[in-house]
Amino acid sequence: MMQLFIPLNFLGFVYREIRGALANIERMFALLARHPGIVDSPTAKDLQLTRGALAFEDVSFSYDERPILQQVSFRLEPGQKVAVVGDSGAGKSTLIKLLFRFYEVQQGAIKIDGEDIRELTQDALRRAIAIVPQDTVLFNDSLYENILYGRPDAGEEEVRQAIDLAHLQDFIQALPQGWDTQVGERGLKLSGGEKQRVAIARAILKGSPLLVFDEATSSLDSRSEQAILTALKAAAHGHTSLMIAHRLSTIVDADKILVLSKGRIVEQGTHQSLLAADGLYAKLWHIQNQGERVNS
Ligand code: ATP
Repeated sequence: MMQLFIPLNFLGFVYREIRGALANIERMFALLARHPGIVDSPTAKDLQLTRGALAFEDVSFSYDERPILQQVSFRLEPGQKVAVVGDSGAGKSTLIKLLFRFYEVQQGAIKIDGEDIRELTQDALRRAIAIVPQDTVLFNDSLYENILYGRPDAGEEEVRQAIDLAHLQDFIQALPQGWDTQVGERGLKLSGGEKQRVAIARAILKGSPLLVFDEATSSLDSRSEQAILTALKAAAHGHTSLMIAHRLSTIVDADKILVLSKGRIVEQGTHQSLLAADGLYAKLWHIQNQGERVNS
């Protein structure tokens, strides 16, 4: 029996090692995918940005000579919640890609706390921003490790708090193995709404001054959407937040709404002021409300 036990035990060890290595490789790819071809300038500053002021100053950008963003300027003061809305293809996600330096702006500048992001190290930039993407990548690891990814040196109590604020506690408590449950491709599959709340818990744990939320285009049931909105409010508390919104009902309380059309900001203001202006925002609002009435 012992003869069999030792090789089996060894196999178990090898399996755990390989599984650990695979999880690391996946993490590495997820990190690499964020910064293709962008290198730090020799004078790049490794600052700890804490205020969370964001400015796009006269930013223009083209993909293969096709203009996507044209002279886009806006500011987020620390603690403000600003939403970007607009038709599909208007350039909303491109704003986020430029903010993360997936691509360099071709004209103008993006500044965080007054610092041009090209003059920052990528580490400094990554530390300054927490993103809740449309589609969250879950690693083949436990739910706990997946949340801890937001800040790997966080303690258990901090993870627990992030879970509470992200409204994940009931979901986790209902799982037989709780936060030790394996998730990802080879584990439990989470719904779109649950995955977004894992991303929100990660963002809360990360505690960056700037929070970016890219709302999923696929619609969620209203309970799930409500849970995400409440979780987001908790994540945004005391931070500056930029939200890319598809459903206007989710951003009516924003301090400022930017309306993007064909790569330009054509209107900006609060929900009420934009409705009163009776322009593109009001048109989008009425179309969505009619759609909801028809669907309900
Ligand atoms: P949606 O609401 O549908 O997500 P969006 O407002 O976020 O749209 P973007 O994703 O920013 O729009 O895309 C703006 C334009 O840029 C679109 O016409 C899109 O086809 C184009 N585009 C996006 N990514 C690339 C790319 N990598 N190469 C070339 N063109 C691109």
